[in-house]
Amino acid sequence: MAFDVIKVRQDFPILQQKVYGKPLVYLDNAATSQKPQQVIDSMINVYTELNSNIHRGVHYLSNQSTVAFEEARKKIQTFINASGEHEVIFTRGTTEAINLVAHSFGDTFLNEGDEVIVSELEHHSNIVPWQLLRDRKNITIKVIPIDEAGELMMDKFEELLSSRTKLVSVAHVSNALGTINPVEEVIRIAHDRDIPVLIDGAQAVQHVAVDVQKLDCDFYAFSGHKLYGPTGIGVLYGKAKWLEEMQPYHGGGEMIKKVTFDKTTYNELPFKFEAGTPDYCGAIGLGVAIDYVKSLDLAAIADYEHELLTYATNALQQVDGLRIYGTSEQKSGVISFLVDNIHPYDMGMMLDKMGIAVRTGHHCAQPIMDHYNIPGTVRASFGLYNQREEIDQLVAGVLKVKQLFG
Ligand code: PMP
Repeated sequence: MAFDVIKVRQDFPILQQKVYGKPLVYLDNAATSQKPQQVIDSMINVYTELNSNIHRGVHYLSNQSTVAFEEARKKIQTFINASGEHEVIFTRGTTEAINLVAHSFGDTFLNEGDEVIVSELEHHSNIVPWQLLRDRKNITIKVIPIDEAGELMMDKFEELLSSRTKLVSVAHVSNALGTINPVEEVIRIAHDRDIPVLIDGAQAVQHVAVDVQKLDCDFYAFSGHKLYGPTGIGVLYGKAKWLEEMQPYHGGGEMIKKVTFDKTTYNELPFKFEAGTPDYCGAIGLGVAIDYVKSLDLAAIADYEHELLTYATNALQQVDGLRIYGTSEQKSGVISFLVDNIHPYDMGMMLDKMGIAVRTGHHCAQPIMDHYNIPGTVRASFGLYNQREEIDQLVAGVLKVKQLFG
């Protein structure tokens, strides 16, 4: 069955609007995706028919919302093929998921002088939590360099591994360059030395099918809002063998078994890591977003987005003076570029006035910008509802800006 983008677009009410009197061309999907009506309806439904705090209530509504919340967890478990629901922890998003591991895994398993390996293309949320851990525990952070194409230098990665390496934490897909990292290989190499691996999947789950058991990663983090779901909800997948051993992250309600002033015992997984009232409304919405993506078939989405990426890359490359940053063989739907010496901010502002939404700046990945010695880029990132016509509009817009700067 061919991917019917015209039909898909009808599910996204926000795409029907005009900005500055022009049809919206939304090419900022790596920052956040738009929501289909099905997700919006589910959120309205929770607040109109279901709302009640989960888990502790004996009454009807509380049971209903608890069932819906736990059903959402089940959907996520199936979506990423975790071996059990207890390995699926709800967080606020990727950032909180990585901070959770940095705290809880770090506090439990890392000592002064131990090492964590990240890569040069990480989002700040996979850098700063490890720096905070470094400050608390006096550990060392090592960095896998990237080459000019924006690919991990795997030979250098192997050289960085040592008997002190306690964790490797890398992105599945780079938000700033679009590089799809060879995470299977990273995991295999690390596991050969018994080193666990965290994968930051914030830019992956919406584009490629993820099977955490097949990957054999130890942790996998992602955000609902980039997967056509609500904001404020995300997931940390973790292997039970680690989660069982790890110290809790936040303390409070829900994560306890028994509290006295002398001693507290902790709840079982996953609740041990879900202190306080979770965003059950968001979790339910995320479950519906996953249903939506599955109904379109992730493989069909991936093929369609790949076609878009190829089309956009070819079209933008025709623009004289345009340079694309991130030219990896394996790429997801992200194109970062600069044109002549036009500042990315100026380009973004002028495209905006044409109704074209792109992101400009360092994309929370300043080390990448330092690598290329640039202040930032203009980034067009695609989602399942984008179409070739929008890429044509982007190219026409870029040419117009170029002319104005002439
Ligand atoms: N990692 C990557 C690769 C990202 O692109 C992002 C979001 N831009 C994050 C982590 C952080 O995600 P969130 O802000 O949803 O926590």
